[in-house]
Amino acid sequence: MTLLRDLTIKKFHDGLLKKEFSALEITQAFLKYIKDTDPRINAYLSLREEQAIKEAEHVDIAVAKGESVGVLAGVPLAIKDNMLLKGEVATAASKILENYTASYDATVITKLRKENAVFLGKTNLDEFAMGTSTENSAFQVTKNPHDETRVAGGSSGGSAAAVAGHMAIAALGSDTGGSIRLPASFCGVVGLKATYGAVSRSGLIAMASSLDQIGPIAKTVEDAAILFKAIAGKDPLDATSAQVDYGAELLESDFNQIKGLTIGVPKEYFIDGVSSEVRAGVESAIADLKSLGVKFKDISLPHTKHALSCYYILQPAEVSSNLARFDGVRYSRNPNLRMHPNAANRSGLDHLYFTTRGKGFGAEVKRRIILGTFVLSSGYYDAYYAKAQQVRALVKQDFTEAFKHVDMILAPISPAPAFKVGEKADDPLALYLEDIFTVPINLAGLPSLAIPVRNVKSDMEDGGSLSHLPLTNKLPVGFQLIGRAFKEADILGMGQMYENEVTSDK
Ligand code: GLN
Repeated sequence: MTLLRDLTIKKFHDGLLKKEFSALEITQAFLKYIKDTDPRINAYLSLREEQAIKEAEHVDIAVAKGESVGVLAGVPLAIKDNMLLKGEVATAASKILENYTASYDATVITKLRKENAVFLGKTNLDEFAMGTSTENSAFQVTKNPHDETRVAGGSSGGSAAAVAGHMAIAALGSDTGGSIRLPASFCGVVGLKATYGAVSRSGLIAMASSLDQIGPIAKTVEDAAILFKAIAGKDPLDATSAQVDYGAELLESDFNQIKGLTIGVPKEYFIDGVSSEVRAGVESAIADLKSLGVKFKDISLPHTKHALSCYYILQPAEVSSNLARFDGVRYSRNPNLRMHPNAANRSGLDHLYFTTRGKGFGAEVKRRIILGTFVLSSGYYDAYYAKAQQVRALVKQDFTEAFKHVDMILAPISPAPAFKVGEKADDPLALYLEDIFTVPINLAGLPSLAIPVRNVKSDMEDGGSLSHLPLTNKLPVGFQLIGRAFKEADILGMGQMYENEVTSDK
């Protein structure tokens, strides 16, 4: 019997065509495994049992008829609960959207439906994707499948934990300041934050629109590439989506050509405060790539130190504006949060806000709305928001300059591996600091691939199925490859070469 833990998109597809199993069998096995395992991990907010079974049966009928099916047909996926599936609840892990039913499909969902993918359910996240640990969810804390006393990372913690915990073959997450890469790194899986505009944001519940991007979380770089190719592309419903034609090179990279690329290592990403585990992990990845013939160059991204404060001005500013739509008149369908029909006359707007926004939003969301409203207010706009926009341009310019000398950049993702549940929950600044190495990439709009470090000795008992996992002190460590805009093929190619040619048990 095929083990769920061994399945990648590629292996599932091959097994399906060879009739080693049906899509229905695998979907049912995942649903059962989720029911057994997820009460400990809390990766999912909701399961789509009936719909997923129908979707799988549909694929089996096509296979039985001998119709040709695509590589994603029947593949059980997990979807972060800030993306819309028509007719289904989408909560963004917020009480204010607890009963909100989506009236249309996100474009990524439309595209995956065309590929006949199976959606197992919706995964947990920090409320509206604000956070680094998935502890800000209004509903539950997602645990790290490698160590259940630790966080899965955030904000796409549910999606990363679902993949790492063998509760989906792959998943979709979203990354505004690191939310795909950080949980991927904490959970030892692969995650791609694509170039801004590569994937449509239509149907992604907006948080900070100039930064948000949907992307894949998967067990292998190859799977991430397959999923990315399926969701990328221009969309008339998102004016910021770009017309790029990602060809076959995303999936069929020529390693000889990849070996000829030069990787930059920015000195600003190896500062004091980076833990010995992360340092050792990233250095071992560099050594392995060097042994494959890849050239490295020291570079400088001098404005890195300003990126975090810049992000935490611009991001809340966009949050305060995007979340203004949750005003109690629209969206809030929770009768407990809604004002009484006659209440407006009695208590006015204040009452409406206190009973909807006041009760519906969690502490972190309120903190960002207040921060954002402050930096946008007259008298402070120039000092904060306008200044941060200028800093953003400088951060971006650093990368433009660096890419004149190197083809991609290798850097850590977080200062340390997954921390304990609760360790930083009451310290927002400590959580913001986790984003120090991820936010510059979003500010610059560039693609970045999170890959688990291999070759670090593991004493984990997982039967070897996750033996590629990067384990220092039992915990995964990841590194990121940052590419030129729309050059996902370069970083995915380098990532695939690393994955194929660097083995775990040296
Ligand atoms: N941790 C960052 C924040 O809280 C990034 C979140 C994200 O990428 N969605 O803003």
